[in-house]
Amino acid sequence: TLYWAKADGKARWTLFDPERNAHRMTRQALSSTLRQAVERGEFILEYQPLVGLDSGVLRGVEALVRWQHPHFGRLAPDRFIGLAEENGSIVQLGRWVLAESCRQARVWQKDHPDDPIFISVNVAVRQVWDSDLVADVAAILEETGLPPELLQLELTESAVMGSAGRPLQALHALSEMGVRIAIDDFGTGYSNLAYMSRLPVSALKLDGSFVQGFRSAEHPNPADETIVEALVELAHRLGLTVTAECVENAEQAERLRRIGCDTGQGWHYSRPVAAERISELLAG
Ligand code: C2E
Ligand code: CA
Ligand code: CA
Ligand code: CA
Repeated sequence: TLYWAKADGKARWTLFDPERNAHRMTRQALSSTLRQAVERGEFILEYQPLVGLDSGVLRGVEALVRWQHPHFGRLAPDRFIGLAEENGSIVQLGRWVLAESCRQARVWQKDHPDDPIFISVNVAVRQVWDSDLVADVAAILEETGLPPELLQLELTESAVMGSAGRPLQALHALSEMGVRIAIDDFGTGYSNLAYMSRLPVSALKLDGSFVQGFRSAEHPNPADETIVEALVELAHRLGLTVTAECVENAEQAERLRRIGCDTGQGWHYSRPVAAERISELLAG
């Protein structure tokens, strides 16, 4: 359709797709209100269990952020994390996520001292580069009283690959503090395990696509299972633990257990849930 539209300040007839334009406007609206949204407390966290594949024991939970938007309702992180990275508000948002996660984890630790669970928090690339992540983490641990061993930070491969200077110093400082570092979505990027093993990293989170490629009626002989088996073995030799993401059924859980994967996360165990549900689980 031809619409009369203003482009570059000049009004003229142009082709434009109203749907695409609406999408762009939503993005702009979200982007420009992100910063205030942090101050207004519009974000909430859900927690998804990480379960020992052998024992069935709850080992930890991953904190996943949602935006309770006044107009658009509850938004999934895929709708706004990218925007927050682009405009820099991820630094503030990430700091809030970290503080709220540690506060909640400390409550669980106090209420259930005999069943310690760790909290795993996603950290965006920009938080490592543009903020004083190490000082923030130290301050938050101090304020909340959460033992550093109960905090795990999830960074993507791209955040640590080729990391020299600042990110590398941050990783070392955090690991010296006793905080654990996990590589998120492992296997989707460069996947240089040898390189990863030289960093102060203690866990790999295998990307969900591996498990989704496991054997099924349609794929009797997938490469993924063999690859996962080799990855887990190598990771263990390098002293890393392995968590599989997107475990959606009992069969996948059993295969992963046999392969020797340490923990599983996914709908088979639980969807991401409110903090109260985790408290109930711990109390049960
Ligand atoms: P992620 O870190 O890979 O998180 C796992 C995602 O997989 C979550 O999506 C979770 O709900 C989903 N998931 C869990 N189990 C299953 C399953 O069995 N099957 C399938 N198909 N999916 C499952 P969610 O909550 O929408 O988060 C999406 C992404 O947003 C996260 O991917 C993470 O990269 C990012 N994100 C979430 N919270 C934060 C945060 O606080 N900070 C930053 N920087 N990024 C975040
Ligand atoms: Ca993650
Ligand atoms: Ca992941
Ligand atoms: Ca992912």
